[in-house]
Amino acid sequence: MNLIFLGPPGAGKGTQAKILEERYGIAQISTGDMLRAEVKAGSAVGLQARAVMEAGGLVSDDIIIRMLADRITRPDCARGFILDGFPRTVPQALALDSMLADQNMHLDAVIELKVDDEALVERIAGRFTCATCGAGYHDSYHPTSVSGVCDKCGGATFIRRPDDKRETVAARLEAYHQQTAPILPHYAAQGRLHSVDGMADMADVTRQLVAVLDGVPAG
Ligand code: AMP
Repeated sequence: MNLIFLGPPGAGKGTQAKILEERYGIAQISTGDMLRAEVKAGSAVGLQARAVMEAGGLVSDDIIIRMLADRITRPDCARGFILDGFPRTVPQALALDSMLADQNMHLDAVIELKVDDEALVERIAGRFTCATCGAGYHDSYHPTSVSGVCDKCGGATFIRRPDDKRETVAARLEAYHQQTAPILPHYAAQGRLHSVDGMADMADVTRQLVAVLDGVPAG
């Protein structure tokens, strides 16, 4: 099953993609995570991407398309993938269409997670992850049970994304509305677009997603 998650930053794409990854045995592919790994490694791509990411803009289509083309052919994608954060522009969506056609692959569903802009700033500005195991938390909605200790692995070091600062979130939201939302009609025209209410609580969003995916014809 090959899926795309579309939605503004903070809509819950990453959280829900991880849940579906386990449930369906398909690979979560986050271009944001891939770029953060490149930045951390100090690679050429990382050096090019860093400033753009910190300003809340979008990294160039060329870099992203090259990265993604290689990623979807890896063995962990044999049962399918969930794209989280890609495509983010119309050229990326068109490049994906031809990449999939070349590999004799197809998309099963494109799911839009809908969340109001006002809710997003709160969601994003409070989030942090365990530096050891990557578990995600939120200052208000999902704090650790014991302050300063990860519930999952007991780690005591946490990280906040530099682009999760309130000032940067506005730029990221604008990039979404200007450059990513125009992709929605592309997939609606293909009859593949489904919308899910991302304002609901986490378990309810998962239920909505599973209901959509159960209704998607196999193959
Ligand atoms: P994310 O983790 O998906 O919120 O992505 C973090 C940042 O990485 C974004 O704000 C962009 O700067 C960059 N990025 C991630 N995916 C893409 C993409 N498909 N196209 C362009 N830039 C991207």
